[in-house]
Amino acid sequence: MHSSSADLTDDDRCPCGSGDTFGACCRPVLRQERRAGTAQALMRSRYTAFAVRDLEHLLRSWHPATAPERADLAASLAEEVRWLRLEIHASTAGGPFDDAGTVEFSAISRGPQGRQVQRELSRFVREDGAWLYVDGQQGTPRA
Ligand SMILES: [Zn+2]
Repeated sequence: MHSSSADLTDDDRCPCGSGDTFGACCRPVLRQERRAGTAQALMRSRYTAFAVRDLEHLLRSWHPATAPERADLAASLAEEVRWLRLEIHASTAGGPFDDAGTVEFSAISRGPQGRQVQRELSRFVREDGAWLYVDGQQGTPRA
């Protein structure tokens, strides 16, 4: 099994674009050393998990009711896609005292079909203190 964090070190800039280092931002969440405190933090960690192809974190942070099959997710991670950038547009609730929240974002990637912008309004819930991704509505028009 290859490293789940590709060739990033703790001192590298976190792929999620927070401006923090990987070691201070998403890596501890991917390593289960720290829980994502907000829906947006979980969303960022999931973007980073796509970027570093961390299948386990993606499955762990997906609500069991909507999570894809492991094999399907593994196949989608195997595609030649490079994740370039994450832009958070808006979020509602999703804080430490909420049980649900949404995050609207664009994930910019480059794959076999060229550059792609995936815009999505994602829904999150918090169960037993852990934020989970439920589902997303794609292609939300630009505000
Ligand atoms: Zn991050």
